Amino acid sequence: MTTAPILMTVVALAAAEPRTRPWRDDPLFRRLAERLDRVRAIDNHTHLIEEGTFNPASDARMPLGLRSTDPRYAEALRDRFGSPVKGGDVSAAAARAAKVRAERMSRLGPGGYWADHLDYTRTEIALVNQDFREGIDGRRLRWVPQATNLLYPLPAEALMKRSPKHRTGIQEIQVALKRFVAESGLDAVPADLTTYVAFVEATLTRWKQQGAVAVKFWDAYLRTLVFEDVSEERAATLYARGRTAPLTREEYLALQDYLARRIFSAAGERKLPVHIHSSNGVPPFLRTMEADVRNLDSVLTDVRYFDTQFVLIHGGNPLVEYGAYLALKPHVWYDMSAMTFLYPVPDLAGVLRKVLIYAPEKLLFSTDAAAYPGIPVGSEVQHSSLCRSSREALALALAGLVRDGVVDMDAAVRMGEKVLRGNAERLYGWSSARGR
Ligand SMILES: [Zn+2]
Repeated sequence: MTTAPILMTVVALAAAEPRTRPWRDDPLFRRLAERLDRVRAIDNHTHLIEEGTFNPASDARMPLGLRSTDPRYAEALRDRFGSPVKGGDVSAAAARAAKVRAERMSRLGPGGYWADHLDYTRTEIALVNQDFREGIDGRRLRWVPQATNLLYPLPAEALMKRSPKHRTGIQEIQVALKRFVAESGLDAVPADLTTYVAFVEATLTRWKQQGAVAVKFWDAYLRTLVFEDVSEERAATLYARGRTAPLTREEYLALQDYLARRIFSAAGERKLPVHIHSSNGVPPFLRTMEADVRNLDSVLTDVRYFDTQFVLIHGGNPLVEYGAYLALKPHVWYDMSAMTFLYPVPDLAGVLRKVLIYAPEKLLFSTDAAAYPGIPVGSEVQHSSLCRSSREALALALAGLVRDGVVDMDAAVRMGEKVLRGNAERLYGWSSARGR
């Protein structure tokens, strides 16, 4: 009768409440999570304050972590807005939460509302990616403007025709560029390359004075991340010709290669770290071979740019170990954002474990929280959710390293503190006056 006890055990287990997220019972995990919960984070990459339109019909095109049905978002609606999802009706819960949000926003004002949100998520500072600095206070929310906007000085039909997203994206870029040209006191985009580069450098200086803490390239969506070493002479010829006759795609890319490298140098001189989207991204037009993080090799190994700090936004995903390896270079940093919603906690912990093994002093806590169409209410719902699950993944990764004898408990806590904010403080030159 050896089978009876086993059968009884199985029956007893089946009757019990299903247990999810079992790592929460692990004492090692709990000790680490509790210690690190006291640390207020710097979020290296967000799109907070941007407005979106909630559209659960987008769910079918999205990975699970960007769907309205992700239980993490229901938890945020319940915990942050007192609006639980009932009977699976996310839209009704979102509508109730939106009312609470509007009431809070009018009572606290936008500045107070976002400060309150950052306190709730234990975020000291969030970097915000957007073209213009409107809505950014320069203290808790800090601006990362898009350097990609500076790479389209000429008519770009050869690039626009590649896809509908290229057409609308480049049109928007050129509208933004016009505004920067006007802000520089110019009537039109400069007529020659030398004057255009002077405008680009003056714009970087002005962005810095306006509170920019880094610049961002999102070119992986539009072109290859290989930036060739193009001579000034060739770039000047292309610039002059492209003003009157359309450049081919290859010619336009060569001009961009030259401009991008000038920006890498100029950003370094101004102590503006360079953020580069280096991973897969929102489908359907991104080309995976072009977005491959290894395409950055020629720039990242070039000593002329060793004084510029580069941040691999989204960490080379899915080539995370290449990203982790690249972060061994003194001037390269690793941003974990977007993997925060793409991967469940144990999978994200697996990525973080890899990066922690290679370059723990280079890993930057970051979410990429945004107002994706599947996110109810707005970017803050996703941010609330991702701050929680990402901290959990970090503690889980560190617990694994302690358990495997790679580091001891104290070293793991110190590593976690650096990931949450110490590394970012070093990168951006901020002192750690608050929030410990
Ligand atoms: Zn982003």
